[in-house]
Amino acid sequence: MTQWVYTFGDGKAEGRAHMKNLLGGKGANLAEMSSLGVPVPAGFTISTELCTYFYANNETYPDDLKGQVDAATKQLEDIMGGKFGATEGPLLLVSVRSGARASMPGMMDTVLNLGLNDKTVENLASQTGDDRFAYDSYRRFIQMYCNVVLDVSGEHFEALLEKHKEAQGKELDTDLSAEDWKVLVGAYKTEVRKHIGKEFPQDPNEQLWGAVGAVFGSWMNKRAITYRKMYGIPADWGTAVNVQAMVFGNMGDDCATGVCFSRNPSTGENLFYGEYLVNAQGEDVVAGIRTPQPLSVAEKKAINSDLPSLEEILPPIYKELHAYRDKLELHYTDMQDMEFTIQQNKLWMLQTRTGKRTAQAALRIAVEMCEEGLIDKKEAILRMDPAMLDQLLHPMLDPKAEKNVLGKGLPASPGAASGQIVFTADEAEAWVKDGKKVILTRIETSPEDIGGMHVAEGILTTRGGMTSHAAVVARGMGTPCVAGAGDLTVNYANKTLTAGGVVLKEGDMITLDGASGQVMSGEVPKILPELTGDFGKLMGWVDEFRTMKVRANAETPLDASTARNFGCEGIGLCRTEHMFFDPQRIIHVREMILASDEKDRRAALDKLLPYQRKDFVDLFTIMAGLPVTIRLLDPPLHEFLPHTEADMADVAKAAGSDVATLKARADQLHESNPMLGHRGCRLGVTYPEIYEMQARAIFEAAAEVASKGSEVLPEVMIPLVSTKAEFDRLKEVIDRVAGEVSEKTGAKMAYMVGTMIELPRAALVADKIAEGAEFFSFGTNDLTQTTYGLSRDDAGNFLVPYQDLGVIPNDPFVTIDQEGVGELVKIAAERGRKTRPDIKLGICGEHGGDPASVAFCSSVGLNYVSCSPYRVPIARLAAAQAALGAGEVHSTA
Ligand code: PEP
Ligand code: MG
Repeated sequence: MTQWVYTFGDGKAEGRAHMKNLLGGKGANLAEMSSLGVPVPAGFTISTELCTYFYANNETYPDDLKGQVDAATKQLEDIMGGKFGATEGPLLLVSVRSGARASMPGMMDTVLNLGLNDKTVENLASQTGDDRFAYDSYRRFIQMYCNVVLDVSGEHFEALLEKHKEAQGKELDTDLSAEDWKVLVGAYKTEVRKHIGKEFPQDPNEQLWGAVGAVFGSWMNKRAITYRKMYGIPADWGTAVNVQAMVFGNMGDDCATGVCFSRNPSTGENLFYGEYLVNAQGEDVVAGIRTPQPLSVAEKKAINSDLPSLEEILPPIYKELHAYRDKLELHYTDMQDMEFTIQQNKLWMLQTRTGKRTAQAALRIAVEMCEEGLIDKKEAILRMDPAMLDQLLHPMLDPKAEKNVLGKGLPASPGAASGQIVFTADEAEAWVKDGKKVILTRIETSPEDIGGMHVAEGILTTRGGMTSHAAVVARGMGTPCVAGAGDLTVNYANKTLTAGGVVLKEGDMITLDGASGQVMSGEVPKILPELTGDFGKLMGWVDEFRTMKVRANAETPLDASTARNFGCEGIGLCRTEHMFFDPQRIIHVREMILASDEKDRRAALDKLLPYQRKDFVDLFTIMAGLPVTIRLLDPPLHEFLPHTEADMADVAKAAGSDVATLKARADQLHESNPMLGHRGCRLGVTYPEIYEMQARAIFEAAAEVASKGSEVLPEVMIPLVSTKAEFDRLKEVIDRVAGEVSEKTGAKMAYMVGTMIELPRAALVADKIAEGAEFFSFGTNDLTQTTYGLSRDDAGNFLVPYQDLGVIPNDPFVTIDQEGVGELVKIAAERGRKTRPDIKLGICGEHGGDPASVAFCSSVGLNYVSCSPYRVPIARLAAAQAALGAGEVHSTA
């Protein structure tokens, strides 16, 4: 017999925390808490295997399930001392919730107070002596059940409630009496009949099975599918269902319900942090309808709240909660996100899970937990998602910038963002498709908004707390978010955002500061954060474990110094053509292109030489003591020619030529497929004087910097090689120039000459090329393009649908295609090493900054990866994780 059902409660459990795959995250943690002696309302979990069975068998259940559920329900009744469906004596009500292996906040549905019907509600009233509570619970149940199970939208019930309040001249739900709720329950039931053509189900067992079916059904709803796609969660994982005894936080003023984090999920500060509401039911805290109160006195001070904290109003319970916080954090050795309910002065823990956190918090928590001795350095490194570091490198508001503050909300997710106001998630997606940057501005968000939230630069809500949907989801995505900005008003109908007297319209630019909660008009300038403190510590640990080096792709002094500040260990790619576009030089480049013979070409190149030399002097000086790989000219020459008539006239004049000659030369240079045309080393072979000039500039700069006492390590790199003959010819030119400069300056030249591997043929004949080449650098941008036969400039049109259709798992220009392009890298590395065992191997395509690709590079034994300056820290972390043998590495795709 298969065990489908696992019970927990009363200090015992059939499951444990490590059984997440079977019991889902929530179920496994409930079992764990129960085993640890933390007070958890008893319950049972129907396993994810049942979800798989359900979908594999035409949405039916196995025969032995019912017996197991009945037995578990009986056990639940015994532990809690109540009966499910009891019309007299203690009554047991249950909640039914989904719980997948990976947390999917807001994606799946929950039903509370299940087991209520026209009879049990009377029993509940007499058991509690509180009619109002009983009928309020019943109407909540009807609404939730209808929404989740019977597909009758909550709006219908909200409308009835509003109508009733208006008729009675009452404003708040709390103003309503037991009688009011009784009348409303009647109205709700009539409404249900209208929609489903029959009575609201009265049999508690029918209700239970209905809810269980709805949870399994919701695994395949649109929201869940979107979320899974976004986070790469496989559909066959399935969800578990948790059925648990209800406890009530809304039975009076000795009751409360709340959400708490063992450390601050936004900043990472080691401060018990949370929100609660007195006399409220679970969902009220996250729904954002009432403003939640702070948990502790310290937190109250920190957020400047005048609402009473739990520590003040229920000190013993606060102490007990704090003790569970300590226990659970120590047990899981990670920051916990917990839910609790206080029913008539008794504390119940409803959930614990590893808390989602901002990048800033993740860093601080990892570093501090390591310093506290809770985890070791390796664990701290493995816990940081490299892609998350990216968020830490994101801009903050320039403190010196002028700000026109419109209002303030909660600092829900850090980082500063500017964009145009849009009021719906669909609009956000449409505008972003049109190349705009948007701030999704909503009263509150719901799981339906997930697509729009994902593409928005920032998210602004006018309602809700730090644990509201907007706040939780934005933090997970690393999107700046200001939540609950109550002094701003959103009007969906008019598409306006009003702040004080100012009315902003759709399309107006605003700026959010997710760190302070401020909302500003216009675009406020931003700066990058200082990377010191915890960041510096973690990066220090990273470097202790890392074996692969990390270099940067940089050509300007600014890029080079930024990269050095980020800890790069040299330049892996200096694309010299970028240096040619400066207005003072482009004219000489064009003269060189227009030259009709070698003599004229050399004359133009002579004018370029001092500029190039200065470029290299700067780079060698900044990178003193570190290797600098300089790639000789790569793009086809027509890229440097003018395009407009006016520019052509200017260039013709400067070159002592005329527009007609210029046009003729441009026509001559025209290629149908320039990326596969006269570029890279093919230019060097046909016009060796170009590479000669560049080599001279490199060696003269090296001699100059070395003469000032700095160590200079130039690595001259030839692009787009496909044959040994190409490489050898050009190496000869470079070596000759090095000799000449050495002779002239008396400097002893230490340098290397190597090649990029960007073409499949080069990878295949790598053993031959390595006879002359001292290093290979994998140009995986071109190698991906040429291996797939995909134009890197045009593939965007179909790569997205390709990913949506599952034809390819990732964009191969972002994350290396291991089985194709990666195989060529492996072959080239092996063959290159066979000829030259100490050949230096690196990668300088965009993949060098992608964590999953960095892991691959490590597995192939590359000596270094090279990436854009801002990705250097990400690559350093990814390299350390690869060295520590991290199993799953996230891609940034
Ligand atoms: C490459 O092709 O991977 C590379 C680094 O060169 P570029 O992107 O300049 O073509
Ligand atoms: Mg290339």
